[in-house]
Amino acid sequence: MTTAILVSEVGPRDGLQSIAALMPLESKMAWVKAEAAAGVREIEVGSFVPAKLLPQLADTASLVQYALTIPGLTVAVLVPNLHGAQAALRAGAHKITIPLSASETHSLRNVRRTHAQMLEEVRAIAQLIRAMPPQRRPVLEGGLSTAFGCTLEGHVPSMKVIELAEALMRCGCDEVGLSDTTGYANPAQIKSLVREVQSAVGAAAVHSLHLHNTRGLGLANVLAGIEAGITTFDGSLGGLGGCPFAPGASGNIVTEDLVFMLEAMGLDTGIDLPRLLEVRSILRDSLPDEPLYGFTPAAGLPLGYTAAGGTA
Ligand code: ZN
Repeated sequence: MTTAILVSEVGPRDGLQSIAALMPLESKMAWVKAEAAAGVREIEVGSFVPAKLLPQLADTASLVQYALTIPGLTVAVLVPNLHGAQAALRAGAHKITIPLSASETHSLRNVRRTHAQMLEEVRAIAQLIRAMPPQRRPVLEGGLSTAFGCTLEGHVPSMKVIELAEALMRCGCDEVGLSDTTGYANPAQIKSLVREVQSAVGAAAVHSLHLHNTRGLGLANVLAGIEAGITTFDGSLGGLGGCPFAPGASGNIVTEDLVFMLEAMGLDTGIDLPRLLEVRSILRDSLPDEPLYGFTPAAGLPLGYTAAGGTA
């Protein structure tokens, strides 16, 4: 049984970091457990950032520890720097993503580091990983944020993205992901940039997209990504986190809608959609004031819906 498309849940990181409310650790554990039980094979459970910056994610180490007990689940985390990566390695995460903003203005504003300084961090992290026994080494992903445009710089030249993707690979990343942090991307741009970056660093190193649905193009961009050979897409359950710039609009792609589109198209995700829809109740109960998004959850599954794998 092959999973054609990997849906990576990032709600516990990207969703929770975007809202003020704190989700208790027990609820996060229940969320991760329920999604894994529904067939989600990769979950980004948090970020190793100082608790005073993001109190919402202060319990990331505990959540990693718990998630590692779930068989078959890839436990992913985000780290902003070497210090965070050290914590992630101690915790035993399977996959570490370090974001590098294609827009240097955004990088300076967000992490107060230039591109050169960030690449130095990446090099140091890769060195630490190489010093570990092979079977314990996590996958290191360089996540190129603002790859499709920046709220501070506007247009981000594709040459800049390609140059940084090459630099990330030279510094020791196993792969590079492209992120539409700002929800600026359109399908034509997705296809051309993915292909350009793939031809620069090799298609095998470019297989994931992190898309936002800020302007309603999230799923159209997924389709463009699939046509360009992308096989991993991030989503957030219930579109948790929303979009601070457009009230009522969702931030991340809604995982439920993403799974519905893929499965309905015959692309196997290995996810049991009716079971995934039930996981929303955990968010509703633990974050009663947060709006949850999603068209499929609101409309329900179509009569006669069959999953691509034929299981649900
Ligand atoms: Zn995001």
